[in-house]
Amino acid sequence: MSDSIVIIGAGQAAAAFAGKLRALGSDRPLTIVGDEPVLPYQRPPLSKKYLVGEATFDRLLLKPPAWYEANAVTVLTGRRAVTIDRTRRTVGLEGGEELSYATLVLATGATPRRLPAVIGGDLRGVFTLRDKADADALMADFQPGRRLVVIGGGYVGLETAAVAKTRGLEVTVVELADRILKRVAAAGTADLVRDLHRSHGVDILESTAIVRLVGDDGRLTGAELMDGRTIAADLAVVGIGVAPNTGLAEAAGLAVNDGIVVDQFARTSDPDIIALGDCARFPYDGRLVRLESVQNAFDQGEAAAAALVGEGGAYVPQPWFWSDQYDAKLQIAGLHHGYGDTLATDGPRPGSHAVWYFASGAMIAVDALNYPAAFVTAKKLLEAGKNVSRLDIETKPLKELLA
Ligand code: FAD
Ligand code: NAP
Repeated sequence: MSDSIVIIGAGQAAAAFAGKLRALGSDRPLTIVGDEPVLPYQRPPLSKKYLVGEATFDRLLLKPPAWYEANAVTVLTGRRAVTIDRTRRTVGLEGGEELSYATLVLATGATPRRLPAVIGGDLRGVFTLRDKADADALMADFQPGRRLVVIGGGYVGLETAAVAKTRGLEVTVVELADRILKRVAAAGTADLVRDLHRSHGVDILESTAIVRLVGDDGRLTGAELMDGRTIAADLAVVGIGVAPNTGLAEAAGLAVNDGIVVDQFARTSDPDIIALGDCARFPYDGRLVRLESVQNAFDQGEAAAAALVGEGGAYVPQPWFWSDQYDAKLQIAGLHHGYGDTLATDGPRPGSHAVWYFASGAMIAVDALNYPAAFVTAKKLLEAGKNVSRLDIETKPLKELLA
């Protein structure tokens, strides 16, 4: 059909785009192609409530199955898009079927980095965690008393370590950098999170490289470290970051630079092709960024749909993130890129802390651990574009900062 929209990828960004498009009254034919066998769902619980067995998969669905039918949105599950022909405006699916589009949306997400097979990355018992199938496989191996080595002290690694410990596994986290959470949080925040894990009995090794994973008969038995030690392990979770899924875009000749390059309306270098979420790199604060978060996938998805029907302005992200580990909640508002200094403050109750980041004298982000008031205050200040100094935060109660 001449005005058909095809979305490749059935995740967070796709669902937000489809939902907003219909909410704004567009009745353009809409097909979502997803290679997972299920309807779009939220990934955060995969390393939290779902992994610990406290949430069923139905609760993860972003929209109930009836919504798609009621809104005339076709979802092709378990189908992989393998080609884009920009001249003929078609998407080729595995198996040979073709879909025509007037507007194409790339919402392909990202793929976890793996350890190479040559250092044992393909041994049985070595897991990554990106989708439901990964989480289901991991849960089956999460038995009390087993020894888990987590490779990478980022969000995936630390959240999985917390769940594993809660389920009675012995857990060691190995981080290559000099500290955990290096990419996403301040040193002061990492100190608090490290203390939290250690208080639960998780061993955290920083500035430590895995030389290789070792196995017996194809099954993991341990991890050899750079200092010559080998840690015994029954399973490993590799959480060493992701790579954006840009293969289709590259093959189609779109501009790609660690992400599909888009403008503030999520348009790629082909104006009839949009890219959203983890796979897209977009302008923000004078540079191009890629954000790997629900906030970004959702807000960019909605903004792009609004722009497509002529009802929206440029996408200006208000970044925020969260991570649940044990009963602690880390909430981050803003992006700390380019910060000069930080300020640590304590919240009203034991265990609640904040680390504020400043650039050129102005607050640009906060990491708030068990301190929702600091998170909410910073988020509101940043959204309002209010300039708040270090002195303001040192001397004024949070409520006064918002006045
Ligand atoms: P995705 O949700 O990954 O969806 C992309 C979909 O496209 C996938 O289903 C993929 O299989 C499919 N696909 C790719 N290529 C093709 C193709 N060629 N054909 C068909 N289908 C294709 N963010 C937070 O903000 N807070 C959290 O607490 C948090 N926790 C997380 C926990 C885990 C375990 C993970 C993995 C992620 C977490 N995230 C969290 C990140 C967040 O889930 C992602 O940023 C978000 O899902 C990105 O949405 P997306 O739509 O861009 O990609
Ligand atoms: P991540 O946040 O990039 O963290 C990966 C960590 O592993 C980094 O600290 C990295 O250090 C380290 N590392 C890299 N190579 C290593 C190696 N060979 N040995 C040991 N450590 C190594 O990525 P992630 O934790 O894998 O998460 C994957 C994706 O899921 C991201 O998009 C993330 O945002 C998302 N996610 C988000 C949440 C949340 O928001 N709460 C929860 C789970 C997942 P360097 O930085 O020095 O490379």
